Amino acid sequence: MANLPIVAIVGRPNVGKSTLFNRLVGKKLALVDDRPGVTRDRREGDAHLLGLDFRVIDTAGYEDEDPDTLPGRMRRQTEAAVAEADVALFLVDARAGVVPLDEEIARWLRSSDTPIVLAANKAEGRAAEQGILEALALGFGDPVQLSAEHGEGVGDLFEALLPYIDREVEEEEDVDLDNPYAPLKLAIVGRPNAGKSTLINRFLGQDRLITGPEAGITRDSIAIDWEWRDRDGEVRQVRLIDTAGMRKKAKVQDKLEKLSVADALRAVDFAEVVVLLLDATLGLEAQDLRIADRVLEEGRALIIALNKWDVAENPSSLFNGVRKALEDGLSQVKGVPLLAVSAATGKGLDTLIEAGFETRAAWSKRVPTGELNRWFERAVDANPPPAPGGKRIKLRYVTQIKSRPPSFVIFGTRVDQLPASYERYLVNSMRRELGFGAVPVRLTLRAPK
Ligand code: GDP
Ligand code: GDP
Repeated sequence: MANLPIVAIVGRPNVGKSTLFNRLVGKKLALVDDRPGVTRDRREGDAHLLGLDFRVIDTAGYEDEDPDTLPGRMRRQTEAAVAEADVALFLVDARAGVVPLDEEIARWLRSSDTPIVLAANKAEGRAAEQGILEALALGFGDPVQLSAEHGEGVGDLFEALLPYIDREVEEEEDVDLDNPYAPLKLAIVGRPNAGKSTLINRFLGQDRLITGPEAGITRDSIAIDWEWRDRDGEVRQVRLIDTAGMRKKAKVQDKLEKLSVADALRAVDFAEVVVLLLDATLGLEAQDLRIADRVLEEGRALIIALNKWDVAENPSSLFNGVRKALEDGLSQVKGVPLLAVSAATGKGLDTLIEAGFETRAAWSKRVPTGELNRWFERAVDANPPPAPGGKRIKLRYVTQIKSRPPSFVIFGTRVDQLPASYERYLVNSMRRELGFGAVPVRLTLRAPK
């Protein structure tokens, strides 16, 4: 538990820190040992919110002190908590508005190195409007509007905290996730003889600068960094994930099928976008669909490339046949990009890499809150959720909790009774209207606590 991300709740007495702490941690709160002068008067607990675990420190317990000044002890306690936290959650009381003590706390928070998320608590109802405006003037941006007591705004709070507590994303990538020029991590998978080696050699054989190959991201796969020049002559970095080593070991014929699925899955761990290469002379087979399904299940973006197009007979009916088989066979995602290429002649390869960058952009996309809310209203208005047993399922709001793959939570009441077909409707509508195309989109439904 020692290395969980830490959120420190900071604020003057009575703003609702303990209430929020209890809501985040639930009943499993742990009172921490009282090493003198260090952790006294502070509570810590583990929170589990929408799939993420983190530690919460509540710096409450000073109600006996003069509320108009910032007592040294409170300040020391809070400073210690903030210093060790990944993010400080600065709570103000939207009903009481901003008071001098809030401003004093704001001043020294500003001088700390810890990122600050501001939340206006007790934000339910109109009595909070003025206080929310005052909170904005503290200079920490738009406050998250929260009602710790009523459990409102917890999704927004989570979204605001997420960049600081989603360590997985931060550690895995040292790159700006929104940067379209970050190296594209592309894996090429497919059945034996589909042309994977030929394709990679083709990429690397052209007069493009190779900065690899770099051995062993696993024992059986390598990453090759190279540079690709786009249509505007701009150089883009691509990291090819090649799992060729594994296939060489597969001597026994009946192991081949299993291996190329395993291949694909291994590559998936390292890739943002997976290209499933098919042999156009053979068409789409059940095993290809299995690989495609698994790639999508793992939340990766998928592109399907029909290779050996140079020797394909009857190309247009072949293409349409594969398109149709994909629509029927891949139940979870419609419209996966399908491209015709030839590793032998180079046909379609630039288009393939372009598609890779485009697909990655969709996969990494964060939808602005306003756009997301407008989509949500439209989608629910156009097709309201059903009312099983005469009781309407109410969907209240949506929030994107992460990207890569894009993942959303919708809060509402009786969501456990929402039919799977309605969930599919929402996901498909999101794909279509928010520009996710055929990347996998994850949706979770929650009832607010
Ligand atoms: P702390 O001193 O900052 O830990 O504050 P507490 O959690 O003890 O809360 C102070 C008071 O505010 C209590 O009476 C809570 O019931 C009340 N309170 C907490 N959150 C809310 C809220 O969201 N709305 C309203 N109206 N009251 C709240
Ligand atoms: P891998 O097992 O997926 O790595 O497949 P290879 O790259 O070893 O290719 C298998 C066979 O298909 C080889 O004989 C290649 O020359 C051939 N091949 C690969 N790409 C093409 C292509 O675009 N057109 C044609 N005509 N043959 C190809």
